[in-house]
Parts: sequence; structure tokens; C-alpha cells
Amino acid sequence: MRRGTNLPRVGDFNQMVVLDQVRRAPDGTSRSELAASTGLSLQAVSNIVARLIALGYVVEGERRAEGRGKPRTMLYLEPQGAYALGVHIDPVVVTSVLVDLDGRTVEKVVEPTPAGPEAVAGAVAAAAAGMLDRAGIERSAVLGLGVAAPGPVDLAAGTVIRPPLLDGWEEVPVRDLLAAATGFDVVLDKDVSAAMVAELWRGNRMLRGTSLFFYTGFGVAVAVAHDGELLAGSSRNAGEVGHLMVDNDGPRCDCGQRGCIGVSAAPATLVAEAVAGGVLPAGTPA
Ligand SMILES: [Zn+2]
Repeated sequence: MRRGTNLPRVGDFNQMVVLDQVRRAPDGTSRSELAASTGLSLQAVSNIVARLIALGYVVEGERRAEGRGKPRTMLYLEPQGAYALGVHIDPVVVTSVLVDLDGRTVEKVVEPTPAGPEAVAGAVAAAAAGMLDRAGIERSAVLGLGVAAPGPVDLAAGTVIRPPLLDGWEEVPVRDLLAAATGFDVVLDKDVSAAMVAELWRGNRMLRGTSLFFYTGFGVAVAVAHDGELLAGSSRNAGEVGHLMVDNDGPRCDCGQRGCIGVSAAPATLVAEAVAGGVLPAGTPA
């Protein structure tokens, strides 16, 4: 669990910690419980809660009596207090979602991946505008846009480096490209890291201790988490395991080796093997 700090100049961090604790308490929490769970003073919690209420992220509910003490005013997340956009860029489809403050999907658009980064940025901008329009949500209620892209990525520069399965995406400044196309602040991460963070954020109880997220789609990657935190490594690219050799006699990979897990588990390889083994009829498209 994240703890707050009572040092000055970390207001935003503490605000995030308190909001996270309110979010993790769907049955309600109180200022005194938040002080106990975050390590912040009751005064600091009260100030932060006042800000979160003013922002519309948190609402006060009923007053609950407990023993002889003063009744506590319960606090709840206001899911409609803010929204965010999310995009997953994949070699085959681009998925765009509009989610509320509780992470629930409000709108979703899935479309075939257009050729080239510029076309993808245009499609994402159109999807975002369409989703906001359908949901009747103002742009000002959107906190930003999160992009999950195939690795490896350079998070400091906001670029995808050379995703092996996306043509024309070498060293593309995807963060700036999408910010310019949509007008929103953009956060970029590797798809498998974003997926692991989402599981941690949803409070998946299977992820206590050390856990591994195995991502398989058009490519293969893993993410590792320990005690509720993603272990992304100094380059933020830990888990790029596509060239791990799993089969000495496997298909030739573009790195020169045979039997890398990425190419061995690729959908095209599996379909070809199924055709060769008579499981699928000849001529099945890969
Ligand atoms: Zn390889």
C-alpha cells in the first residue's frame, strides 16, 4: 500500500495517494481511516479531501456512528468526476476506449490498424471525438490519453523504438504525435506494462507477492510485479522476451536464430503448423 508523506511540496503525490485509497474503498471510507492508512495527519487528509471534493472526484455520503465517538462522514469516489481516454496500438487493430474515474469503459472503438503512424493518429483523434460526442462528455472532463504500444519504447522521449511487427514505426514520437492529433496530454507505456498496471490497479488479489503477466497477441512479452509495483527495469523495457529460444528446430526468426518464442508462438506460425498437421484445412489464411 502506498503511504503518504507529510513533507511540504509533495501535495500532488499525497492527493494521488488519498484518491487511490478512496477508490479502493467502494463501501466508503472516512477521513480518520484515510489518515491511518496513508500515514498523513488528519489535518493534511482533511485539506486533500476538501480539494478532491472541490474537483468533483470525491463525494461525501452518509454519517456513520461508531461506538461513542463522533459519527464519521463517509467518502466515496465519484466515477463521473473525470474521464480518461486509452488507446492500444496493435499490428492488427487499434482499440480506443473512454473510461470513467473508476476505470469502467464508457465507450469503445475497435478498428483495423491504418497504415503508418500519421493515419493511426488521425484514427485515434476521430475515435476520441466520436466517443466523447456519443457519451455527451465535455473535453474538459478528460484528464488525458494513455497509449499502450508494442515494445520496446523510450518513455523519456515518448517514442516507440522499432516494434518488430509494425511497418513504418521506427523511432516514431508517438506521444507527441497523438498529443498534437487529439489535443490531450498523452502518457505512453509498453502494452504489457500497461496491462500489468491495469491488473494491479483493479486490485487483482492473485497479484500479491511476485507475479508475472504473460502477454500474447501478435507478439509475446512479459511483465513482472512485486508487492503491487511493476518492475519495469531502468529502461522501462524489462520483459522483452520475444527472442528467448524455446525450440531448437523451430521457425527461423528475423534475428537469425531458430525457435524464438515470439516467432514460435506467432498466430501465423500456429496456423501454418495446424494446417501442416491437418487440424485446419489447407488454405486457411494465417
Ligand atoms: Zn529472434
